[in-house]
Amino acid sequence: MAIKPPKSVNFNKKPGNWIRLGAFWIIIALLVFAGIAFLSPSENLKDIALSDVISRANNGQITKLEVQGNEIKVTPKGSDKPTEKSVKQDGSSIQEQGLKTDAPVELTIVPPSTTGSTIWGLASIIIPIIVIAAIFFFMMRQAQGQNNQAMGFGKSKAKLYGADKKKIAFADVAGSESAKQDLEEVVDFLKHPKKYEALGARIPKGVLLVGNPGTGKTLLARAVAGEANVPFFSISGSEFVEMFVGVGASRVRDLFSKAKKNAPSIIFIDEIDAVGRRRGSGMGGGHDEREQTLNQILVEMDGFENDTNVIVLAATNRVDVLDPALLRPGRFDRRTNIMLPERKDREAILKVHFKNKPVDETVNLDKLAAKTAGSSGADLANIANEAAIVAAKRNAKKISNVDLTSAFEKIAIGPERKARIMNDKEKQMTAYHEAGHAIVGHLMPDSDPVHKVTIIPRGATGGVTWFLPPEDKNYTSVIEFKDVLARALGGRIAEKLVYGADYVTTGAGSDLRHATEIARQMVIEEGMGTGLRDQVFHEDNGGMMFDRMTHERPYSDDTAKEIDKEVAELIKEAAIRAEVVITKNRAGLDKLAEALLKEETLEEDKVNEILKDAKLPKEARLY
Ligand code: ADP
Ligand code: MG
Ligand code: ZN
Repeated sequence: MAIKPPKSVNFNKKPGNWIRLGAFWIIIALLVFAGIAFLSPSENLKDIALSDVISRANNGQITKLEVQGNEIKVTPKGSDKPTEKSVKQDGSSIQEQGLKTDAPVELTIVPPSTTGSTIWGLASIIIPIIVIAAIFFFMMRQAQGQNNQAMGFGKSKAKLYGADKKKIAFADVAGSESAKQDLEEVVDFLKHPKKYEALGARIPKGVLLVGNPGTGKTLLARAVAGEANVPFFSISGSEFVEMFVGVGASRVRDLFSKAKKNAPSIIFIDEIDAVGRRRGSGMGGGHDEREQTLNQILVEMDGFENDTNVIVLAATNRVDVLDPALLRPGRFDRRTNIMLPERKDREAILKVHFKNKPVDETVNLDKLAAKTAGSSGADLANIANEAAIVAAKRNAKKISNVDLTSAFEKIAIGPERKARIMNDKEKQMTAYHEAGHAIVGHLMPDSDPVHKVTIIPRGATGGVTWFLPPEDKNYTSVIEFKDVLARALGGRIAEKLVYGADYVTTGAGSDLRHATEIARQMVIEEGMGTGLRDQVFHEDNGGMMFDRMTHERPYSDDTAKEIDKEVAELIKEAAIRAEVVITKNRAGLDKLAEALLKEETLEEDKVNEILKDAKLPKEARLY
């Protein structure tokens, strides 16, 4: 079968056109009226006194007089059209004013015409009518538009891509090689269905794109549309779910019937978790509607004939909450996982986003890629854009590596807030706090190395100590977690050792919360407790609030107590390790804090140099 070009569809028609058209005609009408009214009395005649006219006429200096009402147009000798005008008294003829009957002048009496004034009169009636009519017209249209919306809300709001001017191709998606391979297959199904049918292969009905937010799911789906060159109906899951009962289901029907009519075609349901959550969980209203919508999707997908060339793509970042019925064979039977990009892929993504940005020779995308472990494609796109903004702000022609670094830091930890004033006391305390994090992190063998320490307020924090993994890693060991806990507490411990236990500040609040979260995660989700090792107490309830409130915990009160105890032990152990490290390396701490007060920001090399004599005491060792 030949590939049909994307049909133009009319559900995108803009109401704005009507309004513009109406306004256009009204302006034209006004211009015409104004023109007529303006042109007619405007022969630009000179006003002269009537007595003058009469005496000149009697003397033969005037060839022609045209009298119209009380107005007299005067054509003097030597002229072939009127150049002057005058006004006679109302109710008396020009002869009564003194024009001799035998005066050598051609006298014409024109019946009083009212063109000018009539037009003005008409205009003054018609223009308001037009204006009022126009206002009514617009109000009607608007009301009707709303009506149409109310009538048409069963229609899907699907947008049609593929006919776009700016097509996205697989080449615009960097990395994600395996996902691209899967989707290239889909494109091939759509382009050459015969090839697969001949071998009796069943074309997949649904492909689910699963990945963290910002990993390029939507982008990939649009690339499929661009590559397959078939109509592509895109709708977001949340658009199915609106206040009115039954809307979602009828939108689904409408969407699928449009797609079938335009087959071969692609339906893309973005954020499918908005409608595709597990049914029958949760309380209260509103869920019925969602379930009906989901049921309708299932019905429609089951209703595909074997030769229906419609493929449904769907994207989600919460595959765990999806209704199992969606994942059954014959529905979304293919799943494509899109991972956070690895270093090579991050570099490739950065290259895509720097393609059209002028950069100077200092820019090192590979280095940036190395630093951005855990960033999604969207984060990287964001960094690229921010770098351009930073460079533009300093009126540079090209983006430099400094711009890149500051863009990255701005996005990773928030913008610098140099304006936030800290008094000297607070500044010193911040320096000790950050130095505490840095020295513990630096000495703990399984912590990531210190990348940067600063006491310039950033985002919500007073200062930042920043650790970066030297390379991507996917797993974290108990020992690594424990080192992270210790360095997280390092700030508070340093404050305590320098200023005394009762002088510690609220500056460590978020550190402590972070540490507690990690400890709980270790015990509850990762089976890394001591007594409770290898058990997971995490209950996967699909993020349903109501479930969490109504269902029982899947463990006993005794276990809950045990969990709390183990969490407390982890924190305590970390605090002791941090305290030992700092006490035994007090000189290093002081030197680091001093350097911070002086320089405000210290890079990795500088920290290493300052702390070159610091040593991990054996009491802080885990092995
Ligand atoms: P998702 O739908 O997975 O949340 P998007 O597809 O909306 O993510 O991605 C957001 C933006 O991030 C894209 O518009 C693109 O600029 C950028 N992006 C994400 N992944 C990639 C990639 N692999 N290559 C290039 N750009 C990417
Ligand atoms: Mg998306
Ligand atoms: Zn801190």
